[in-house]
Amino acid sequence: MESRETFRYQKDNKIRNIIVTIVVIALIIGTAYVIYSNFFSNPLKQNVEVEAGSKLDIKDFIDTSKYKVTVKKGLTDQQARTVGNHTITLNVKGKDYDATVKVVDTTKPVIKGVKKWHVDVNSKNDFKKGVSIEDNANGKTTLKVNTKKLNMKKEGTYKITYTAKDASGNTATKTTKVQVSDFAKIAKQKIIYLTFDDGPSYNTPKILKILKKYNATGTFFVTGQWPEYFKYITAAHKQGCYIAAHSYTHNFNIYRSEKAYFDDLNKIEEVIKKYTGKYSQDLRFPGGSSNTVSRHYATGIMKKLCKEVEKRGYVYVDWNIDSTDASGNNVPVAKLIANGTSTYSKHLCLLMHDTGAKKTTVKALPKIIEYYKKHGYKFETLENSPFVYHQRINN
Ligand SMILES: [Zn+2]
Repeated sequence: MESRETFRYQKDNKIRNIIVTIVVIALIIGTAYVIYSNFFSNPLKQNVEVEAGSKLDIKDFIDTSKYKVTVKKGLTDQQARTVGNHTITLNVKGKDYDATVKVVDTTKPVIKGVKKWHVDVNSKNDFKKGVSIEDNANGKTTLKVNTKKLNMKKEGTYKITYTAKDASGNTATKTTKVQVSDFAKIAKQKIIYLTFDDGPSYNTPKILKILKKYNATGTFFVTGQWPEYFKYITAAHKQGCYIAAHSYTHNFNIYRSEKAYFDDLNKIEEVIKKYTGKYSQDLRFPGGSSNTVSRHYATGIMKKLCKEVEKRGYVYVDWNIDSTDASGNNVPVAKLIANGTSTYSKHLCLLMHDTGAKKTTVKALPKIIEYYKKHGYKFETLENSPFVYHQRINN
């Protein structure tokens, strides 16, 4: 009895050992396979983090100097902008491999179309109008505007702040000015906005001296033509003049495309920021918005630019009275004075130029200022002007 039981026990034990051995072998093979397929077979780096909206770089997944790699299935534009895991397939030496891409969003949204406001006392305004958010990722964005500091009942300059938030919680803020004025009162006043294009130049300090002498002020639409005089931008700004954008190169070939125009504009904006501490929100197109010279570069470009600059929060300013100092160098002083004082409107925006060659403009300026003083005009800059001077667009 005893030996039979022992035999049976040994038999059971043997079967169990075989099963255990099989399971262990299977586990070893399985583990080896997983290790092999993950670390040896698939040469692609996994879980690579990519910022939403950016392009994939194959080099982040595999050393392309060692392998011949082609993209079998990349991210669609939609996937590239969607936070989360996505799978791509790369072909390495003729074989396809998958890799997981982690799209993350750490970039702030961009608030567009923020402009300065000039509004009438007690008026109702939608300060979100024209303001939009651009984000690198898909998902809901929100825009809020904080107007707590704004008092619509009282004339003054106030600040309002926009806050944009994207789906990943990245936030951006942008602040702008709201000038509250009594429009009825302004309409009764006589105001002249002296404007000087194309500087800073050799003549800028002379112009500033004259403005100071008469306790007058003006707006300089500056260029980057003579960097050696950039310091006068700071001087003009400190004296209370307004620095606005004209063009960096002042070459009309900036009208060949929107991109060319804005590349040039951004360059002069950086100069303005550097020398005044802030970007300008006003600009004057070289040749004015009514120029026809741009036709040589691109048909319809001025119509497009006028719309686009406003979308980007700019006010573009032309003029309603011209000293005609652009018609040549050394235009006689008497002619400049006559032209510069030839209109009887209550609100004038006078075009003059600030370049080294316009010596007669400097000579005519005191007489022009004296004329307007005598006739009761206030001198102001375009920074807070409620008036917009636009000419007819011809291209
Ligand atoms: Zn100009």
